[in-house]
This record gives sequence, C-alpha cells and structure tokens, in this order.
Amino acid sequence: MWNWTHNFFGNFNKMKHSCTSKDDKDKEFKNILKDSVTRISEEPKKEVELKRYSARRDGKIDMTNIVLFGPPGAGKGTQADVLKETYNLIHLSTGDMFRYNMKNGTELGKLAKTYTEKGHLVPDSVTNDMLKAEVTRRLEEKPNGFIFDGYPRTKEQAKVLTEFLTEKETEVDAMVALEVDDEVLVKRLLERGKSSGRADDANEEVIRERIAEYYRKTDVLKEYYQKEDKYFGVDGVGSVKEITARLSAVIDRL
Ligand code: ADP
Repeated sequence: MWNWTHNFFGNFNKMKHSCTSKDDKDKEFKNILKDSVTRISEEPKKEVELKRYSARRDGKIDMTNIVLFGPPGAGKGTQADVLKETYNLIHLSTGDMFRYNMKNGTELGKLAKTYTEKGHLVPDSVTNDMLKAEVTRRLEEKPNGFIFDGYPRTKEQAKVLTEFLTEKETEVDAMVALEVDDEVLVKRLLERGKSSGRADDANEEVIRERIAEYYRKTDVLKEYYQKEDKYFGVDGVGSVKEITARLSAVIDRL
C-alpha cells in the first residue's frame, strides 16, 4: 500500500475567496500541490534492472512507458496490477492518488472531491503538477518504465506529458486502450460500487456523468496518439487473463 505525507498550506480557503482569473486559480492550485504532497512507498523497493536505464541511440533513455487507456470501468486498474509485475514497470494511477488524498482529508483531496463527486475531471493544472511530481520522484529508482493509468485524460494533459517526458529524455511508447461498450461499463461500475466503497461508483447518475466526461474530454486522445502511430485498441471484454494476453501481445511487440 501507499503512504503519503502531507504538509498543509493555509491558502486553500484564501483561494476560494480571492481567485478571480484562471491564472490566479492555477497559481493557487500550484501552491496547494507544491507543499502538500510527497508520496512515500511502504513497499520494500524492488531491485530494478539498471541495465535498461541506459541511453538509446536516439538519445532517449531506454524505458517502456505505456498509457493504459479506456473509459471508467474498462479494467485499467486490474490490468495494470498484472502488467506492472510482468514487465517490472511502475504503475501510476491518478485516480488512486486523488483517492488517497481524499481518504486522508488533505487539501488536495478536498479540492479533488468537489470534482470527483460530480463525475467531473479535476482541473489540468492540479493533475499535471501532481503527476509530474510523482514521476520525478519515481525516476530516481531508474525504473524500466511506467504504466500511466487514468492519465492523460485531456488533450492538454497529453501535451504536458509529451513535453515533460521529452525533458526527462524519454517518451510514451504506446497508448493501449481497452474498448468496452458503455452499457457494460455502467453495469460493471454499479457492481464494483457494491464493494469498492468508492462514492463515485455508488450512484448511476455519477457513473453516467463520468462516461459523458470521457466522451467530452478524453476520447479525443485516441486521435492524438493515432497521429503518432502509438494507438493500439484491444477488446476489453472477456476474462482478466484473456485481456492481459491481448495487452501483452501489443506490449511485447513494442
Ligand atoms: P475511473 O474509474 O472513472 O476511470 P479513476 O479511478 O481513474 O476513475 O479516477 C477517479 C476520478 O479522479 C475521476 O473521475 C476524476 O474526477 C479524477 N481523475 C483521475 N485522473 C484524472 C485526470 N488525469 N485528470 C483529471 N481528473 C482525474
């Protein structure tokens, strides 16, 4: 399990009252993040294969970075848990990061909750900075690569990720997408809501809003990665094992 340490700033309330422009809001969001989140793993650090973290001929670091993509309920988390073991990758889930902060009542969590409870996305400025901080920290482990789960979720996030990974001398190798029909998603999420304890799974209206938000803001990323020849769609319906095999067939060919 993950543990987070938090130092709180007092400017969240100030933000709510004093912000007028988007720029002001972005600045205040950055302040909340800057001093509020540091993630610490309680898991013993795995011995990572250092040999892969060497320069490639094209000047990039030799890592495998995968964006695991798909609508809410597509099974990204389930598959990421398997794939991270198979390929020795670090699994980064923005949903898990927000949930951890919500559970612990941090300022970041309180802010995220105002969006997640409505089925909406958390603003890009907050999500981007949280993700960047976490990637920077985990790069110290010289990993084989990352599985990005739930990120990027907007075109702006995708651009930020591209620029940020370029800065870090690496890149996204592939977006692997789990394709599942909407009605199957609703059913799965309602079922998951019975045991997950996730407030956003317990209410059908919120579930449908999350799917609508996906089509409004996230679905367009297929095109973004298709243009770069990095989009791979796989059928997300079947047993966990079958779907893992489909995903692995793509990853093995990268
Ligand atoms: P889902 O099961 O809907 O795929 P996640 O567990 O990935 O959801 O995320 C839960 C919630 O956290 C989302 O509904 C959203 O409000 C927020 N969230 C997660 N990732 C992002 C992101 N990349 N950008 C904005 N908001 C995000």
